Amino acid sequence: MINSETKDIIIIGGGMVGLSLAYQLIERRITKSITILDKEKALGLHTSGRNSGVLHAGIYYKPGSLKAKVSVEGARRLCEWIEERNLAINKCGKVVIPTKANLDCQLDLLKERGELNGAKVELWDENQLKAFIPQAVSKSGRALWSPNTAVVKPLEIIKCLERELTSKGVTIKKGIKIINVNTKEKLITTFNKENLSYSYVFNCAGLGADRISKLFDVGNDYTIIPFKGIYWKLKHESSIKIPSNLYPVPDLSVPFLGVHFTPDTERVPSIYIGPTATPAWGRENYDGIKGLEPSVAISSIDLLSRQYINNKGGFRGYVHQQALQSFQPFFLKAAQELIPSIRFKDIEPCSKRGIRSQLFNKRSMKLEDDFLCINSDNSSHILNAVSPAFTASFALADLIIDSSILLN
Ligand SMILES: Cc1cc2nc3c(=O)[nH]c(=O)nc-3n(C[C@H](O)[C@H](O)[C@H](O)COP(=O)(O)OP(=O)(O)OC[C@H]3O[C@@H](n4cnc5c(N)ncnc54)[C@H](O)[C@@H]3O)c2cc1C
Repeated sequence: MINSETKDIIIIGGGMVGLSLAYQLIERRITKSITILDKEKALGLHTSGRNSGVLHAGIYYKPGSLKAKVSVEGARRLCEWIEERNLAINKCGKVVIPTKANLDCQLDLLKERGELNGAKVELWDENQLKAFIPQAVSKSGRALWSPNTAVVKPLEIIKCLERELTSKGVTIKKGIKIINVNTKEKLITTFNKENLSYSYVFNCAGLGADRISKLFDVGNDYTIIPFKGIYWKLKHESSIKIPSNLYPVPDLSVPFLGVHFTPDTERVPSIYIGPTATPAWGRENYDGIKGLEPSVAISSIDLLSRQYINNKGGFRGYVHQQALQSFQPFFLKAAQELIPSIRFKDIEPCSKRGIRSQLFNKRSMKLEDDFLCINSDNSSHILNAVSPAFTASFALADLIIDSSILLN
């Protein structure tokens, strides 16, 4: 537990979750003695700097889940923080459409979930959809409109948080990889064989969070199966015009939202299409070869094939609909389900890609959907910090602090 005597908090991982935790610890005057350790020479090189940049409005998540508890509040607070600093934001909203007629009823479910979670949502008819995005086609005619979805520049936010935390006295040490922990002596060992003492540790290591938690003998039932997201771009000269985010009704039994269209924050926005969600075969295997990890590939095949055989969480639907989307024809087909007139000539590949730190539960033998925070003696471990953890980070940080805190 953290109390007012607690000094020397170490945060492992300087992504959005680690930085937001430090920010809230300072804002709430819990401690000023915070050190953030990150293995990279710069912050934002992994998930927090490689995502779609969508500030989600909280419409997907099962009421009562951690995602539902923190996404609306987190988005509101981050939006306010961004505007106070004049950082880039595109308040373009989001349209969700069913790509099959039998998915139409999911719109009502999403509307109900959104409202229960405190999000603003509206059902549109075909005329409203056509007037807004003429080339989009909803298989049932209906669509869901989320006016409060926005798009931001993730790396700009990371850099700004880094500057503010440094100016408030937080130590941020880069190029420091944690390789071992002695929980009895409360010592962390770095790759350079340096020993750092701590009174409390927050493990926010993203794609490495499960490996770090195991050094504390925590979360032994879990492993991360990395899923890669590849993006394409709509060519500026394409006749297809999309003024907001455009998403398919997702398969709510898997934690991926499906290939979608997202504008960026520029004055004349570029439109990104993606991300795919296919096994990455390596936690940082961004280019497909250099980061390949045979042990991760073998474990991914083993665990995912077992989930497929048992069809846990309707997993077969994911395999048949999304697992092949890194191949161009399957990718284009996914985009055409939203914009039937889109062709290869309208899109171009781009270098943007990210990898989800998706947690697999080896007890229930399925992918975890919700955020998971496990507290142990003098440490908290944030596992499964998948989407919308970027959006929700400020409120998620408060929830993590509250669950580990005893203020006297
Ligand atoms: C393709 C894609 C699209 C997404 N789109 C959205 C979106 O639109 N909106 C949204 O809200 N969310 C989105 N997300 C999710 C969001 O990006 C993540 O939830 C969030 O960035 C997680 O932040 P993090 O701090 O946990 O992880 P990270 O940003 O990955 O940070 C973890 C840090 O830990 C460090 N680290 C790891 N191991 C060690 C170690 N051993 N020692 C020291 N340091 C270590 C890493 O270097 C890294 O900097 C998306 C994710 C992906 C992959």
